[in-house]
Amino acid sequence: MEYIIDKLNYGHLFKLVLGLGNLNYEQIKYIIQIYSNTKMDIIDLPCDQRAIDLVFETLKNKNFNIENFVYCLSFALNDDKHNMCAFVNNQKCKKCYKCLKYCPQKAIYIKEKNVLIDSNKCIGCQKCKCKAISYKNKFSISEFDAVKLANKNNINIIELHASISKTKTIKKTFDNLNTHFDGIISVCFSREYLSENKLLKLTEYFIKKRQNKPLIIQADGFSMSGGDNNYFSTLNAVSCSQLFQKYLKLPCFYLFISGGTNEKTAQLASLSNIKYTGITVGSYARKIIENVNMDTAIINAKRLVELCKS
Ligand code: SF4
Ligand code: SF4
Repeated sequence: MEYIIDKLNYGHLFKLVLGLGNLNYEQIKYIIQIYSNTKMDIIDLPCDQRAIDLVFETLKNKNFNIENFVYCLSFALNDDKHNMCAFVNNQKCKKCYKCLKYCPQKAIYIKEKNVLIDSNKCIGCQKCKCKAISYKNKFSISEFDAVKLANKNNINIIELHASISKTKTIKKTFDNLNTHFDGIISVCFSREYLSENKLLKLTEYFIKKRQNKPLIIQADGFSMSGGDNNYFSTLNAVSCSQLFQKYLKLPCFYLFISGGTNEKTAQLASLSNIKYTGITVGSYARKIIENVNMDTAIINAKRLVELCKS
């Protein structure tokens, strides 16, 4: 644990997100094969034993000591986008097939003229929005399940995705984690459903409850929107992180920037004089290694990690 705290205190870390709802094992293996060649620091894992085993096995097969990396286990509250999965109502579907083009996970496919969604691939990003598509909660993983899984796999960070409007639910889940988990707690939330005032009040509640035990706040911009490498995509994430600057002087408070993050995030944060512990990248990190050969994928991944850590 001390090693992780030292790393967090050192700052400018890169956290790789496999996708909380991503149970596409082939893709997970490939992401790890590529990013293990970079100086990434933290790997964000879904609450799924098979995915966790696969990450560890892939690293071991590449002769890495799995202890060289820090792991974070993510789970989401009901109605947080990260917990959602898309469904098509084929009676309403006009067969325009536009959704296939927008899906970053290639989760949408056609079978016998019907449009279907592979729930293992769907990460709930909602880029496929249309009248024929609805979203439902995908997992029913409680904070207690997450604690069990983290302890079983020696994972030192649990991340609660809490971009919902119900502050009572967020507090209750946080309290249970705080009581039952000895490691580091991270809370990822955004201004999508909560006002700035509510985000700050919740953060102060978490800080008080943690009593100087490590707390990470992950300021989310537009969740899972980081397909593009421009300032617009990352602006909301950097601007959300600005809210939490005052807490960085506290000894056990750490701040990550996520949601729309890309190669511009560190630069924009630096230009805006924003301090942070790390940058979390998911959608963009996956996009730059797709549809290119392995050598190019490694070059792209290394560039992203270096820029985020600069
Ligand atoms: S689900 Fe919507 S976007 Fe996709 S093919 Fe049907 S009508 Fe078009
Ligand atoms: S666009 Fe996003 S929400 Fe829609 S099917 Fe693809 S991964 Fe799922």
